[in-house]
Amino acid sequence: MSKYWSSLTRKLSPYVPGEQPKDQAYIKLNTNENPYPPSPKVLRAIQEAAGDALRLYPDPESTVLREKIAARYGLGKEEVFVGNGSDEVLALAFQAFFDQTQPVLFADITYSFYKVYIQLHELKAEIIPLRDDFQLDVEAYVSKTNGGIVIANPNAPTGIEVPLADIERIVQQNPDSVVLVDEAYVDFGGHSAVSLIRRYPNVLVVQTLSKSRSLAGLRVGFALGQAELIEGLNRVKNSFNSYPIDRLAQAGAIAAIEDEAYFQETTEKVIRTRQWVTDELRQMGFEVLPSQTNFVFARLAGRSGAELQQKLKEHGVLVRHFAQPRIEDYLRITIGTDEEMRIMLDTLKQRVLMR
Ligand SMILES: *Cc1c(COP(=O)(O)O)cnc(C)c1O
Repeated sequence: MSKYWSSLTRKLSPYVPGEQPKDQAYIKLNTNENPYPPSPKVLRAIQEAAGDALRLYPDPESTVLREKIAARYGLGKEEVFVGNGSDEVLALAFQAFFDQTQPVLFADITYSFYKVYIQLHELKAEIIPLRDDFQLDVEAYVSKTNGGIVIANPNAPTGIEVPLADIERIVQQNPDSVVLVDEAYVDFGGHSAVSLIRRYPNVLVVQTLSKSRSLAGLRVGFALGQAELIEGLNRVKNSFNSYPIDRLAQAGAIAAIEDEAYFQETTEKVIRTRQWVTDELRQMGFEVLPSQTNFVFARLAGRSGAELQQKLKEHGVLVRHFAQPRIEDYLRITIGTDEEMRIMLDTLKQRVLMR
C-alpha cells in the first residue's frame, strides 16, 4: 500500500486469474483455454501482417474485422464493437451503460471480474444468489429496480446455460436497462442472444475469440447490439484511450472468423470430449453439473475441493478451485484433448482417490 495511491486504488481488489506456473510441465486444465491450436490460416495471416506495415498504426476502427464479424452474425458493421479481449469490452460496457444510482444485478456465482468493474467504476451491485441447483433466479431479475444487468450465459464457473426464453423475458421486462449477456462460452453448445438484437434495443451480447477460436493470446473480443449501444461503447473508448486492436490481432482475428470449418471442427471435438469426461467422472462418483461450455464443474461427496485440486497439482494436473461459499468443494476442469483428459482421469483414479 503506497501513500501515493488514490483512495479508489486503495479500495480495489483486483481479479486473480488462474495460475500459469513455469516450474514444470503441467497438464493445464485451469484457465479454460482451447486445447487445439488456432486455425493454420490465422498463423499465416499474422505472418503476412508482420512485415513493413508494422511501421504504420492499425486501422483505428478495425473496419474489416467488424465487417467479417457482422456478416458472420447477420448484423451491420455499425452493430459490432471490437476490443482487446472481451474483458476490455466488458469494462467499457460497465462504464457506458450502468447507472451509478441504481444497483447492477448479477449472480453470486459468476465471472469474478464483474465485481472488479463495479468497484473500478464506483457502481452499486445487488448480488442475486443462484438457486440451489445453480440455475439463474429469473424472477428476481424481472422484479428488481436496477441500473443494469449482467448475465454470463452459459455461466462460469458452473457451465450451466440459461434458456434463451428466460434471457428474452429479462430483456423484455427491463426496457430501461441494458442487459449485458456475456457469451464467452456460447459456441460450446449454448444458444446466443444475438437473435434478440433486432427486436430489443437494450440487449448487448459480448463474445470472445479466446475460447472457441483458440486465440486467448491474441486478445480480441467483441460486442454486438443495436447501433446506439455500439456508439455508446465507442464514445467511452474514444474518451479514455484510442488503443485499437493491433495489426497482428486484426489480421489473425479476421482469418479466425473466416475459417468457419476449422471452428466447427474444433468446437465439436471439445463438446464430444466434454460428454465423455462427464460420463467418466460420473462413473467415478462425481456429481457433474450439466455444461454447455469448454469445462466441467464437478464435486465428489465427502472430499474437499481444495484438497483434490492440490493433489492433482502434485501429480502434474492443474485444475481450478474457488475458495468461495457454496462452491468450495467443486473443481472446474477445462476440457483438454482426449489424451490430456485420459491422463487427468487416470491421475484422479490411480493417484488422488486412492488413499
Ligand atoms: C474468459 C472469459 C472472458 C474474457 O475473455 P477474454 O480473453 O478477455 O476475451 C469473459 N467472460 C467470461 C465469463 C470468461 O470466462
